Amino acid sequence: MTTPPVCNYEGSDYQTSFWDKGGRQYEDRTEAIALKRLLPKSGRLMLELGAGAGRNTPRYFGFDRTILLDYSRTQLEQAQQRLGSSEKYIYVAADVYRLPFVDGLFDAATMIRVLHHMADAPKALRQVKNVLGSGGTFILEFANKLNLKAILRYLLRRQKWSPFTLEPVEFVELNFDFHPKAVQNWLKELGFSIERILTLSHFRVGFLKRIIPTGILVFFDSLFQWTGAWWQLTPSVFVKAVGAKQDDGSEKRALSVLEFFKCPDCGHSPLVDKSDHLECSSCKKKWEFKDGIYDFREPIGHA
Ligand SMILES: [Zn+2]
Repeated sequence: MTTPPVCNYEGSDYQTSFWDKGGRQYEDRTEAIALKRLLPKSGRLMLELGAGAGRNTPRYFGFDRTILLDYSRTQLEQAQQRLGSSEKYIYVAADVYRLPFVDGLFDAATMIRVLHHMADAPKALRQVKNVLGSGGTFILEFANKLNLKAILRYLLRRQKWSPFTLEPVEFVELNFDFHPKAVQNWLKELGFSIERILTLSHFRVGFLKRIIPTGILVFFDSLFQWTGAWWQLTPSVFVKAVGAKQDDGSEKRALSVLEFFKCPDCGHSPLVDKSDHLECSSCKKKWEFKDGIYDFREPIGHA
């Protein structure tokens, strides 16, 4: 099975270098505000796609359980250290293009600063749609190519690519910015309705961040986030999309963690619990479970 290339944070100190020491307090706090505005108050099961070291995870406290999914095992190990061991959190290393979950499993999903690395965004979004339950909420953050800085640079002929066209721009390998209209079109084609759009990081400008206290920038950004309903010209955009309600007439019974999973290669479920791995009784592939992390990237023994 061929899937698009994945941006791998394995062994990366992203959390420390980018967030903790990288002067990103402003971005982190504006994201916290946006999430508070967009998240459902409560729910059973949340899927956090590209959870990294779990920076946003405690913000999903209204959910009974959260599955942290990341392609990098070392990022998940950092998240385990940060969040501690708890029934509330389930750690899964997997490829977003081959999600190892049964259809309709989740009440909500978030994907923040992740679409940014997707060479085939519609394919990834379709995977998310499949695992969301009826009426499920999807909160998606994307990097906006139609931002003021890019528009100015383009008009001043300092930048070749046009911020006005719908196709994504890959400005560094596996780093993409998207047009807001294109993202909305993809979501609508998948049957989502767009409930709300917030724009973030109005003041992501080096000198402003240096001379104005973070609290003040955060306050003004939070006021301006609402204008995302009318126009989106900031580098970061949050979309709240809601899936169609399907009444299948039956009340969903509670599933065990084992029943959450399907084989990412052949789609078979349930998998069989063999304590240090899960086995697919259909294609016989074995998926590792070690130190609290389910690993669905490559089957055991795969060279
Ligand atoms: Zn299988």
